[in-house]
Amino acid sequence: MKKDKSDLSRRNFFKTGAIIAGGITATLALSSVNGLLFASEPPKRKGKWYGIGIDINKCIGCGKCANACKLENNVPQEPFYFRSWVEQYTINNDGTIKVESPNGGINGFQQSIPDEDIFKSFFVPKMCNHCSKSPCTQVCPVGATFETPEGIVLVDEKYCIGCGYCIQACPYGCRYKHPEKGTTDKCTLCIHRLKKGLQPACFEICPTQARIYGDLNDPLSNINYFLKNHTCMVIKPHLNTGSKLFYNALSPEVR
Ligand code: SF4
Ligand code: SF4
Repeated sequence: MKKDKSDLSRRNFFKTGAIIAGGITATLALSSVNGLLFASEPPKRKGKWYGIGIDINKCIGCGKCANACKLENNVPQEPFYFRSWVEQYTINNDGTIKVESPNGGINGFQQSIPDEDIFKSFFVPKMCNHCSKSPCTQVCPVGATFETPEGIVLVDEKYCIGCGYCIQACPYGCRYKHPEKGTTDKCTLCIHRLKKGLQPACFEICPTQARIYGDLNDPLSNINYFLKNHTCMVIKPHLNTGSKLFYNALSPEVR
């Protein structure tokens, strides 16, 4: 589909002033830090290239991130629609696993299982992985889903026909059909805030700094510091989506 000029310029919002230096070097360095970071060799990108880190050891399950996302991005208040949400995993002594996310965790969690029955329990904040080989982008029949040069996966509402193929294709459940607009909606990494030099809403509000984001191509960025100092993994690495959402202390039970 032919794109108009404004469309092209929106896809390059960050191009001006992008940090070029150190791009390939940093990517190679990342691969050697921990082979689990990427399921396969990441694409070689120059310039700013966003990645996200979440430290499960630091998340207290307060849900402020999920709530802030809803408010910032006018996500419908009904409990079926989320761009960002938190899950609680409880692994019981008998080996059973319970996964809960009441209202996306925006009101926090109440543990429903007696302490003595629990082997371990932890919270897993989830959001779009801004995959570098995103299945959602690949299946979109009209090119409405696309990746910016900075590695942010977006939906262009002007072109989205609401077919829902991308919702089905996302293996992480990060998309929903907006009940009023009829188009697909998802995390934008608060690109409107990034453009103003602000943090995405969910990162800014987190009281424990469990959430980190930054430029994977900048060796001095917060995200690179996080990756170099933790043993990080992505969810479902076997799917080879090129996920750029890296978790510290990710248990194998997390799906
Ligand atoms: S997490 Fe889902 S919506 Fe986000 S880029 Fe990956 S496949 Fe697309
Ligand atoms: S705001 Fe931070 S601590 Fe609270 S649920 Fe979200 S990631 Fe966890």
